[in-house]
Amino acid sequence: MKRVLVTGGAGFIGSHLCDRLLREGNEVICLDNFFTGSKENIVHLIGNPYFELVRHDVVTPFYAEVDEIFNLACPASPVHYQYNGIKTIKTSVMGAINMLGLAKRTRSKVLQASTSEVYGDPHIHPQPESYWGHVNPIGIRSCYDEGKRCAESLFMNYHQQNGVRIKLIRIFNTYGPKMHPNDGRVVSNFIVQALQNKAITIYGDGQQTRSFQYVDDLVEGMIRLMNTGDDFTGPVNVGNPGEFTIKQLAEMVIRLTGSKSKLEFLPLPQDDPIQRKPDITLASEKLGGWKPVVPLEEGLTKTIGYFKDKLGL
Ligand code: NAD
Ligand code: UDP
Repeated sequence: MKRVLVTGGAGFIGSHLCDRLLREGNEVICLDNFFTGSKENIVHLIGNPYFELVRHDVVTPFYAEVDEIFNLACPASPVHYQYNGIKTIKTSVMGAINMLGLAKRTRSKVLQASTSEVYGDPHIHPQPESYWGHVNPIGIRSCYDEGKRCAESLFMNYHQQNGVRIKLIRIFNTYGPKMHPNDGRVVSNFIVQALQNKAITIYGDGQQTRSFQYVDDLVEGMIRLMNTGDDFTGPVNVGNPGEFTIKQLAEMVIRLTGSKSKLEFLPLPQDDPIQRKPDITLASEKLGGWKPVVPLEEGLTKTIGYFKDKLGL
């Protein structure tokens, strides 16, 4: 039995990961400061003798004996990471230092939840891992983008200088049950708006694209990456290469919910990437043929079911 630490374990992705790790017979320590996460996401695990919940902020050091660390602690929605940009940078940078220090002391493996945002508003399409990106270092997204880029650099330096066993995963837009209804990201916003027959808020003309991955596909990729040999550090893209415009997403959500909602066009936020799509060649080569298996319509249908229950509709 391995003892696995999941920081940000009460968040959207973290809670799915805790479920999966426990199902596979591991002991799980879920660490969270509940900034965007919620006890509701993991309440069903409380009482499980192999599950421990710790209220803690990754900005301060954490001591425990662990075999593996999944470092997910960080707000992921632009609304929430921009709420306190300084804290977002501290969470990414000091959180990475603290988790790397823990991994160094305990000789555990540590996986960093990095992001497609390291590519910024990309000039290369689709984005391979070799692309260095196009990020505005002083824009409103920089607290998140540069924080995550600095964390990648810290991971590489700890690996090269101290031999820490690291894994860098660049996660592309992921959605699914357990997203917070007020999360602010596009999939949860559109579903909640459609279910309530409210206007669907499209930022800009809706022609910007994203590639949406269902959470189960991501968790499978994360577990496979953690299990790769020590010589493979990544970074590796994990995402669904199916690319959709935001307007197409809105129309699909309206159709699947049978909603009466109309589209409302609002200003596009500064530095909002125009296009995004992962090149997953490396993931399929290094992660045992991994590829996403849940198409957007199927994943949206499951997510809509979750929000219907959550909102009591
Ligand atoms: P989320 O906001 O639901 O989860 C983040 C969790 O981290 C929350 O439970 C929050 O309370 C916790 N947290 C935040 N700051 C903390 C701190 N200082 N100390 C301890 N806990 C803290 O977001 P998510 O979508 O589950 O994202 C999880 C991770 O995956 C994040 O690191 C995010 O950057 C990364 N990621 C997510 C996506 C995506 O599309 N969902 C894409 C790329 C990267
Ligand atoms: N978006 C939108 N309406 C919303 C929320 C987001 O049109 O209510 C757009 C946003 O401008 C961006 C895309 O949807 O172009 C994805 O936004 P999200 O915040 O989900 O993630 P990110 O921009 O970080 O990929």
